[in-house]
Amino acid sequence: MVSFSIRKIRKNLTKNSFILFSLVLILSCSDNSNSAEQIDKQKTYNWSLVTTWPKNYPGLGMAPERLARLVKEMSDGRMSITVYGAGEIVPAMGVFDAVSSGSVQMGHSGAYYWKGKIPAAQFFAGVPFGLNAKEMNAWVNRGGGLKIWRELYEPFNIYPIPCGNTGTQMFGWFNKEINSLEDLKGLKMRIPGVGGEVFKRAGGNPVNIPGGELYTAMQTGTIDAVEWVGPYNDLAFGFQQVAKYYYYPGWHEPGSMLELLVNDDAWKSLPPDLQAIIETAAKAVNQDLLDEYTASNNKALKELIQTHGVELKKLPEEVIMEFKRISEEIIEESLEDETTRKVHASFKDFLEEVSEYHSIAEDAFIEARSRSD
Ligand code: CA
Repeated sequence: MVSFSIRKIRKNLTKNSFILFSLVLILSCSDNSNSAEQIDKQKTYNWSLVTTWPKNYPGLGMAPERLARLVKEMSDGRMSITVYGAGEIVPAMGVFDAVSSGSVQMGHSGAYYWKGKIPAAQFFAGVPFGLNAKEMNAWVNRGGGLKIWRELYEPFNIYPIPCGNTGTQMFGWFNKEINSLEDLKGLKMRIPGVGGEVFKRAGGNPVNIPGGELYTAMQTGTIDAVEWVGPYNDLAFGFQQVAKYYYYPGWHEPGSMLELLVNDDAWKSLPPDLQAIIETAAKAVNQDLLDEYTASNNKALKELIQTHGVELKKLPEEVIMEFKRISEEIIEESLEDETTRKVHASFKDFLEEVSEYHSIAEDAFIEARSRSD
């Protein structure tokens, strides 16, 4: 028995050595083949990135600028990205098409702007009463969302990468008080995405206008109300000069994720190290932008109230609950579309799981922290 076992061990050792030897051989061969097509470190890439935001706009507009700087530094200058603001070479709402056609290599925008082309896209920016920023990051990066997102954009020749989040937004700016659902009737408000559809069904008149045109639209009375982002960005646009009331909560955008769009042919033409640099830089910007909003919103809100006399108001409970009811109704109806059904299933499962734990851990903690007695 013993000698048999030793023989067996020897045999196994020989067998294992052979496997090991073969593996080393394969690996060294593949090493050689890699070195044959070694990355050309001399080759430089000069790409263009178009955005939906005004050039150098705080937060949103600076995110792609930061991405470009990081990529340049990390690649030791091998890759340069020139960022164009909305309207410079492509209109704000033309970003997706420009990247899809390959007329530019990159874009920075929000997925809900493309709901006309891809109804399910809005889940990757955010939907009313959906995931907040932390939860969106978890669903997209760790909960299977990103894989579905990439499948969704593949027919358009676009490779999406998460690149920023505004955190929970504000409902927006009004010149009349919203005391009941009656007050929404006929109100012309800039509010995009599913939020806009909900607003319409509640009696309002939603429109989508690019950020850079909103101040004038409010000033001239083209629109009665406007939602943009939150205090930090809204202060920068000067909405406090054209509206009196600032309403919350931003039920329609609980944690809007922004996207870096890369033309898929351009993406595939990059060596793996530059692809890794772009993915890593986008991850850094994704977190950094949220940190910027988190650090700036409260200061900006204080300034709006204390310096500019803005009246902060919470939507009545009856209005919030009606928005919620309609949101569920609209999302339910959108499930007739097969792709939307698939995206929604993943989103909904994640939302249910994550909110179960968050209602135990986070809600209880926030409640305990804010208690004063
Ligand atoms: Ca918004």
